[in-house]
Amino acid sequence: MIKVKNITKTYGATVAVDDVSFEVGPGEILGFLGPNGAGKSTTLKIITSYVVADSGSVYVNDIEALDNPMEVRKAIGYLPESTPLYMDMQVIEYLEFVARVRQMSGAEAKSAIDRVVEMVGLRRMLRKNIGHLSKGYKQRVGIAQALLHDPGILIMDEPTSGLDPHQIIEIRELIRTLGKEKMIILSSHILQEISAIGTRIMIIKDGRIVADDTPQNMQRSLGDKTGFRARVQGPAEEVAAALKGLDGVNSVEITAGGGTDTEFRLLTSAGEDIGSRVFKAVAGKGWELSALSPDEHSLEDVYLELTKDGVSDSVSGNGVVEPASEAFESEAVAQGKAEAKEPESEAPAQEEAVESISEEPASEAPAQEDAGETGSEESEDDGPAQEGA
Ligand code: ADP
Ligand code: MG
Repeated sequence: MIKVKNITKTYGATVAVDDVSFEVGPGEILGFLGPNGAGKSTTLKIITSYVVADSGSVYVNDIEALDNPMEVRKAIGYLPESTPLYMDMQVIEYLEFVARVRQMSGAEAKSAIDRVVEMVGLRRMLRKNIGHLSKGYKQRVGIAQALLHDPGILIMDEPTSGLDPHQIIEIRELIRTLGKEKMIILSSHILQEISAIGTRIMIIKDGRIVADDTPQNMQRSLGDKTGFRARVQGPAEEVAAALKGLDGVNSVEITAGGGTDTEFRLLTSAGEDIGSRVFKAVAGKGWELSALSPDEHSLEDVYLELTKDGVSDSVSGNGVVEPASEAFESEAVAQGKAEAKEPESEAPAQEEAVESISEEPASEAPAQEDAGETGSEESEDDGPAQEGA
């Protein structure tokens, strides 16, 4: 259980997190959604005790986080936005290193590694250098690291960012599976990611929570904006008129085509299932209905509406919010804050890498001259999300 009460964090003139409160309970997969710079990472870092809020409090399993950061880090597994991985290490060496830092005994480490390797599907990769893994597998290594101490809560900051579509589907599956056992918070700036995995969506904009509900309720809150897309072979104007006359249909708009092969967008009353009515009306006139689907853009409409200013110039055609400028990083670096991250590096500053998994001083870290990615790029394909036992 996580309780966040009125947390605020400012960086100079920027209010990164502005009086945010929420609770997350067992069984939830909370999708934390918002455009770049909205305050997602800062909020997650405050929950995981890596950043201290200016005001407000966080309780993790009823433990006050500020005074007990080590207790909190035991309860939580954290996958930061850029996972600190040692590219020159083999997967198994890295996990053994994490286990040592977590002060596990040899036997404990062995069974913990065995458990997470099975969970995230890394068995075949154990002897590979992390630097030679595909991004999807690197992300699994990051998740394995976060799960090693078997925390009840898993917090992942943009876990699918930068992955290709196959890898995204695999990591989604993995997160869903993990969600059966653990409370999960994951962040993303992409609506589709959050709506595909989350049991609950919380939208943040300019440091403030602007919506917090199940995906279903959020869609329902649209009221008469619920919609369908229909593609019909028939005279466009006549088809539009016929559709408009149907019970439950509030408006009809032509979205593509025209002439005799047209896509229509129907706005319907909430909860109306107008499928069979549309089908009968079209067939009755001798036209052909070649597609009919719930309008998946309706949730997107809510999101775009709620986050309007922040995304106005960074929305691509399909409504996916593209990463905005690098303003955050340059600003962070310019301010020279201790928490500022190197934006490009796959392996953030070594102290931070160790800090994120360790209560120990940085001297625990293995010698590491070149943390950067060396050698070949994507030499491994991503396999299925779960490998058979
Ligand atoms: P998100 O994860 O949603 O993209 P962040 O929490 O990273 O957003 O950032 C929220 C705001 O706080 C942004 O305006 C960002 O520029 C600013 N910010 C975050 N971290 C720092 C930092 N270390 N130094 C200065 N500004 C920061
Ligand atoms: Mg972020």
